[in-house]
Amino acid sequence: MSSTIAFIGLGHMGGPMAQNLIKAGHTLRVFDLVPAALKAATDAGATAVDSAAQAVVGADVVITMLPASRHVEGLYLGENGLLTAITKGTLVLECSTIAPESARKVSVAAAQQGIRMIDAPVSGGTGGAVAGTLTFIVGGTDDDLAAAMPYLQVMGKNIFHAGAAGAGQVAKICNNMLLGIQMAGTAEALALGVANGLDPKTLSDIIAKSSGRNWATELYNPWPGVMAQAPASHDYEGGFGVDLMLKDLGLAAEASMQARATTPLGELARNLYALHSTQGNGKLDFSSILKLYHQPH
Ligand code: NAD
Repeated sequence: MSSTIAFIGLGHMGGPMAQNLIKAGHTLRVFDLVPAALKAATDAGATAVDSAAQAVVGADVVITMLPASRHVEGLYLGENGLLTAITKGTLVLECSTIAPESARKVSVAAAQQGIRMIDAPVSGGTGGAVAGTLTFIVGGTDDDLAAAMPYLQVMGKNIFHAGAAGAGQVAKICNNMLLGIQMAGTAEALALGVANGLDPKTLSDIIAKSSGRNWATELYNPWPGVMAQAPASHDYEGGFGVDLMLKDLGLAAEASMQARATTPLGELARNLYALHSTQGNGKLDFSSILKLYHQPH
């Protein structure tokens, strides 16, 4: 089945996601504020238009992949917001990572216009976006998820239904808060071992087969040279940026306050990554948090 898809936001993630939909035979009408992003999509076979409102004309499905809550609310809501331009009954897949509260607000406004919307934030990074192996964490109704499935399956491999509108964002934030805490904890433990005379590779091998093991020790070791393919062994280039982790830890802190939950380790991790970012490391991979604990001589 070939559909006409309006795709808005063609950055690091949206660009390759749109290209995978084109490869699967869909017709793409695309819009981004950055001309270079539009050009890459048109080179891949998409039709570029001059505004988001133009992109949604005649589209069966609308997909957005924007930086943050304010971009999503700014695009969809308000007197001239995109929801006023989208045809009733159209399916909207909002894939940005944003505050659960924003996702719910936009979803309620969409429902009032008879538009079907799911929040579908992703995990898996730019590598997953290119390979079409993203994990989608969806909030919305069973029916809307079922309708979105053929498109999500083109862009991703694992698709989870977290719950009602906004639940996808909550689950994504919980995962990334834990990831941020675990990476800082792993860096701290390795630095402690090295400060006490251990070899970082030997200690990593021991932890990887002991009870402290986690995703960082298995696949993404923060110590340079321990894992050849990890960003730590490539001057912390590529991967998942410190400022993106900081954004997600900020969303976790907001969600925590909203729900009156307690997240002391998440807050501490947010402060550690904020400090690290202010020291000029915002664009490095988040495993560079190791530099807070250990300076190579
Ligand atoms: P990006 O900054 O590379 O891309 C965002 C794009 O949106 C830009 O090209 C920008 O020009 C465009 N844009 C902003 N406002 C717009 C508007 N009003 N109309 C049209 N285009 C607009 O960001 P990204 O890395 O692609 O991330 C997108 C989302 O995915 C974020 O919410 C991020 O947190 C999340 N995410 C990113 C990663 C990652 O590794 N990069 C991983 C998982 C989730």
